[in-house]
Amino acid sequence: MYRIDFEKLDEWIRENNIQKVLIQAPLGLRLQLPLIVKYLREKKIKPIISTGKCWGACDVAYMEAKAIGADGIIHMGHAGFANNGELPVFYMECRITDPKPLLDIVDKIPEAIGEKKTVGIGATIQWIDFLDLFLEKLEEKGVKCVIGRRSHKTPYRGQVVGCEYACLWSIIDEIDCSIIIGSRFHGVGASITTPKPVYVVDPEMKRLYEVNSEAEEILKRRYAWIQVFKNSNRIGVLISTKPGQKKFSTAVKLKSILEECGKEADLLTVDELNVDQLDNLPYEAYVNTACPRLSIEDQMKFRSPLLLPSETLIACGRLRWENTIYCRKYLIT
Ligand code: SF4
Repeated sequence: MYRIDFEKLDEWIRENNIQKVLIQAPLGLRLQLPLIVKYLREKKIKPIISTGKCWGACDVAYMEAKAIGADGIIHMGHAGFANNGELPVFYMECRITDPKPLLDIVDKIPEAIGEKKTVGIGATIQWIDFLDLFLEKLEEKGVKCVIGRRSHKTPYRGQVVGCEYACLWSIIDEIDCSIIIGSRFHGVGASITTPKPVYVVDPEMKRLYEVNSEAEEILKRRYAWIQVFKNSNRIGVLISTKPGQKKFSTAVKLKSILEECGKEADLLTVDELNVDQLDNLPYEAYVNTACPRLSIEDQMKFRSPLLLPSETLIACGRLRWENTIYCRKYLIT
């Protein structure tokens, strides 16, 4: 079901003289682990499996790998963007091999999108191999399609990740709506950060649906959390220790803006941000400079506001909500 590029893996092992390797896999790909472990053992390489969550390419387990003396890391399910050179990393992208579940949905699209005739297509790394085939089939149905550019976080044209929709912004004036091939998570992210309607094609669930009303509801709730934050005095500014989420200078700048705004603010480090970790801390509200989707998806689990940097600027009167909404790409950065 997934394409595992063993040839490239061999090359990487040889080039980096790998003897012991840490393997990271997101939850959805863990069933592939025995295959990879067996392959490595046959090559006389010692594999050690990380039990960490492996959320995205931002989440490369350098500290864990160093703690066990690994020579390198195999990071599954994502295309690389956070390689800080501390250890060699092999990004095993695990692309889907069978386009059928995706192509089965094509027939339903023209009716669903109605008059919105020029469509921007985005896809998660798992489906990126079939972007051109999908476009061709959709154009046969009379739908004009455009694929946007890559960016520093998304090395392939048309690729999206949960916090990066630059490919859609690069074509935003040409399109009437977008289609995201992947899941609700990526569709909602696209809908929050772009001003045009978004549809999700989810081949695994065999579904096509719009996510705009859900995104609007989320935005309304974000606005309400900003109002709660305005009435909070003691603020914790969270800095992630994950290599691709670390925004130290942003956090320092926000701390000083909060202080100018009359609030008390401290810097806090965080690795896996969850509710328990904020327990018993003396803060009424938090600024989240780590993964922006924690504020979008998990806010309801936290009892205090968990504002994004852009939302913090709004709360401090440095940015207007209307302007952020108009140019949504700044919302979850
Ligand atoms: S920061 Fe969050 S959304 Fe972005 S790649 Fe990492 S886990 Fe995904």
